[in-house]
Amino acid sequence: MTTSTCPACGADAFVANVATGAADGGQCSRCGYSAGESSRCPHCNAVARIEGSGLAAVCAMCGGPRVPSNLGGDAAASALREQKKALANARAASVATVLQGAFSTVATLIGLALLPAALAGKLVVFALAIVPLILAMRSRGRARAARERASEAGERAWQAAAEDVAGRRKDGITAPELARTLGIEPEHADKLLTALAVTDRTRIDVGDDAEVRYSIGADPRLRVGEELPADDERADEAKRAERGGTGR
Ligand SMILES: [Zn+2]
Ligand SMILES: [Zn+2]
Repeated sequence: MTTSTCPACGADAFVANVATGAADGGQCSRCGYSAGESSRCPHCNAVARIEGSGLAAVCAMCGGPRVPSNLGGDAAASALREQKKALANARAASVATVLQGAFSTVATLIGLALLPAALAGKLVVFALAIVPLILAMRSRGRARAARERASEAGERAWQAAAEDVAGRRKDGITAPELARTLGIEPEHADKLLTALAVTDRTRIDVGDDAEVRYSIGADPRLRVGEELPADDERADEAKRAERGGTGR
């Protein structure tokens, strides 16, 4: 990764967002200075540094999940906001689970210690122990559901980012290239690109080097044994070149 002099601390540690294909700005890996609209957090709106990488990347100001350089645009931003909300819900439900579980345990212990002789008293002790237990189990289910919603929304954000990166390159992108650009594991990049291909958001080509390349193209995919007329193919090439030219 190429670095330049940080305008804030003067260290040679400023990494321009250009590396990821975004238009402007960058971040200093030493002092945390960041600049440019592509460093603006979709949650707290501050021009803020991203801490951590890959799925663990969060805004240094508000802790919300982020993708590098705001790749993926509005689609990624709204998915990230959904993810943040679901994560907060999951945390709240987890806290409730622990509190309700603890309350149930304490109520049981107290109830056993001074177990009343009368049946009505026994019923009260039983209710005090069982009600919070049921609530705890419900909270645990809610926490799990919220965590699933969060990871699904996060995946959508990263897919949008992957689609964005692929669209900036007219000759498409391979999974290892995407992994480097987004700072994620190659397996995750592979998963993202495959998901996009399944929903027809990317086109798959196998290059001369036998590398699988994913690209964004408006032209319908070729079926096996079928070829587009030469004229159409040239027109599509031109269209792709045009689109690619504006990206980087
Ligand atoms: Zn700095
Ligand atoms: Zn933020």
